[in-house]
Amino acid sequence: MAELDFTQWISYVVTSLVAVHLIDVLLKRGITGVLKSVANFLLLMPGADRAVKAFTRKEVDDYVSQAFNRKPGTAKNVISIPEKGIPVNDLRKELETFKSGDKHLSENGRLFAYVYTSEGPRFNLQREAFKMFTDLTLNSVNDERVEMIHAFLDAFMHDNALNPMVFPALRRFENEVVGMTASMLHGDGNVVGSVTSGGTESILMAMKTYRDRARSLNPNITKPTVVAPSSIHPAFEKAAHYFDLTMKHVQVDPETLTCDTKEYENMIDSNTILLLASAPAYPQAILDPIEAISDIALRHKLPFHVDGCFGGFMLPWVEKLGHNIPKWDFRVEGVTSISADLHKYGYATKGASVVCYRDSSIRKHQFFAYSGWSGGLFASPTMAGTRPGGHLAAAWIALRAMGQDGYMDMARKLMETANKMKAGIRNIEGLKVFGSPLMTAFGFGSNQAALSIFAISDIMEKKGWKMEVQRNPDSVHCTILPGHVKSADNWLVDLKDAVDFVKVRSLRV
Ligand SMILES: *Cc1c(COP(=O)(O)O)cnc(C)c1O
Repeated sequence: MAELDFTQWISYVVTSLVAVHLIDVLLKRGITGVLKSVANFLLLMPGADRAVKAFTRKEVDDYVSQAFNRKPGTAKNVISIPEKGIPVNDLRKELETFKSGDKHLSENGRLFAYVYTSEGPRFNLQREAFKMFTDLTLNSVNDERVEMIHAFLDAFMHDNALNPMVFPALRRFENEVVGMTASMLHGDGNVVGSVTSGGTESILMAMKTYRDRARSLNPNITKPTVVAPSSIHPAFEKAAHYFDLTMKHVQVDPETLTCDTKEYENMIDSNTILLLASAPAYPQAILDPIEAISDIALRHKLPFHVDGCFGGFMLPWVEKLGHNIPKWDFRVEGVTSISADLHKYGYATKGASVVCYRDSSIRKHQFFAYSGWSGGLFASPTMAGTRPGGHLAAAWIALRAMGQDGYMDMARKLMETANKMKAGIRNIEGLKVFGSPLMTAFGFGSNQAALSIFAISDIMEKKGWKMEVQRNPDSVHCTILPGHVKSADNWLVDLKDAVDFVKVRSLRV
């Protein structure tokens, strides 16, 4: 919490008390009369500033225990993604229970905030449109599980996870989504986190959290720096831009796309507050040397965030299938937080990601609380104010409908497809796959000066494929998705054609 000047301090005292009262009324639990009078007494004493801060901290702690349904600092029950996906009929029954639980207030006109819509033809149209477009963007399995994901999205699309006390189902969804993700990443019961709107918000939150943590631990650091391989996602640059941090990049090798860990360590200076790496980095899907960077983090007593936005919901299953994946998650001692996108290989609808921390002593720097508002205490865990309930519900059901067996099954199919495509590329003279991508994505390019990968990609576009081209090094990016299981063979035929065409044309020139 920022230092306060005197006038701010006075208003803080007053508003804290108002906030306490409001919380009392709202929650009908919260802070007791005893605590109030103790606090009132403390305010008259020298050093009250500190007392007020502690007092406000207590408010926030109370909010946390209400919002997350447990006492601050205590470990929660460990919960995992079910071993077998839960049958759709059972999920349908659960949906009915949840609906009747959370809807009674808004549907009976008893709630005075949050839900602005009501039932009726116009809103049904809105629903239909939303459903149609999420259908198109759902990079998922085409079966009745998708139907369930939509049913939950639909049931909760107007609910707001900003106030988990009003929407207990959303509170449960968030706790369980974070819990299931943490277990998948081999975290223990102390791992805590938040569901956010996507990878970028997860990354923004992590960067802000470590900035505020560094401020509280070492106020002498006025120009904080963060070290990362140059393949790190631009969301970190965005965060650095927003939160006034300086990124220090270690250039990755243009062939292997990995960085030298000596060079990485040399980037650390007395202003460094955080180390970063990816599992894997998006462009060529290369896993950074997480264990080596973890050792560096431990040596320098620095926190270490691993960006698992891309691989978070894929690498664990690829490893379980028996592929050799170096350790990169909470099993690695120096890793203090991980971001993992539900709306990528978690097969949830767009607008869902998880950021999780090894324990709550780190996460506490993520929260924002303000008690000086005429609307009472405003406490919010992430960047967003209103937090859409639909995507949270859809993510919760996606994890449970898929189950570990569903995720493994999909991982197996996508790995087979990726391996077939990589082998096909290596068989085409003039093409190469960059580095050693370990999961269901890769980048490829040309190894002949006369053969332009961009020309090849242009021809492929004419043949109806949408290729993502990238520079440094010149390459084409491929994320392997469920649709590719069927289209991979045709793609390879067209790719061979495109390469031949470009070769002949460059001969003519
Ligand atoms: C997708 C991705 C992000 C950003 O996530 P958004 O959901 O697009 O905001 C960050 N890092 C990696 C490695 C990614 O693949």
